[in-house]
Amino acid sequence: MSSNGSHPDIERVLFPSDAIEARVNELAECIAARYAAHTPLTLLPVLSGSFVFAADLIRRLPNKLKIALIQTSAYPGRSITAVAPRVVHELAGEITDRHVLIVDDILDSGQTMSLVRNLVEAERPASVQSAVLLAKRGKASQQLRPDYVGFEIDDLFVVGYGLDYDDHYRNLPFIGVLKPELMR
Ligand code: 5GP
Ligand code: MG
Repeated sequence: MSSNGSHPDIERVLFPSDAIEARVNELAECIAARYAAHTPLTLLPVLSGSFVFAADLIRRLPNKLKIALIQTSAYPGRSITAVAPRVVHELAGEITDRHVLIVDDILDSGQTMSLVRNLVEAERPASVQSAVLLAKRGKASQQLRPDYVGFEIDDLFVVGYGLDYDDHYRNLPFIGVLKPELMR
C-alpha cells in the first residue's frame, strides 16, 4: 500500500494523502480563525468514520477545545446503500453553553448530520457549526450544507482515511473507490 494510492482492492484513487493533508490544513486555518473569538469550543466527531479526519484536524487547531463523541451507523455491514441512520453510542461530552463543531467524514443524504444536529441543539449549545471532509454533490438539501467542506465528490461509494466498507479499509491513507466486484 502506497500513501498515494496503490492497493489491490482499489479501482481508482480520488484523493491521495498529500492532497488530503493540504486540504485539512486549509480547513483547520478557517476553523481556527472562526473559533478564536468563540469559546469555549467543543469538537464533536461523529464516529466511526470521522476519527481519522478528526484526529488530523484537532492537531492543527491551536484553539483551546474539548472533545465530545457520538457514534452513528448508516451503512451496516456490507451495505453500500444507506439505511436511516441511528445512534449506536449516545452523545457524551460537554455541549450546553459551548460552541459546538460537528465533524463528520462525509455528507451524503444529510440524514446523519440532521440527526446529530438535533441531538446537539436539544442540549442548548452556544452555537453549532459542522465540518465534513467530503460532500456528495447535490444530494443533501442546501439547508444541511456544512459550514466547512473539504472536497465535493460525485455520488460514489468511497473508502479510506476513516471511511469503511464492512469495517475494512479505514486505515488506507488515501480516499478511493473500491473495485465493484468486492462490494457485494
Ligand atoms: P448520510 O446520513 O448523509 O446519508 O450519510 C452519512 C454517513 O454515511 C457518513 O457519516 C458515513 O459514515 C456514511 N457514508 C455516506 N457515504 C459514504 C461513502 O461513500 N462511503 C462510506 N464508507 N461511508 C459513507
Ligand atoms: Mg459516519
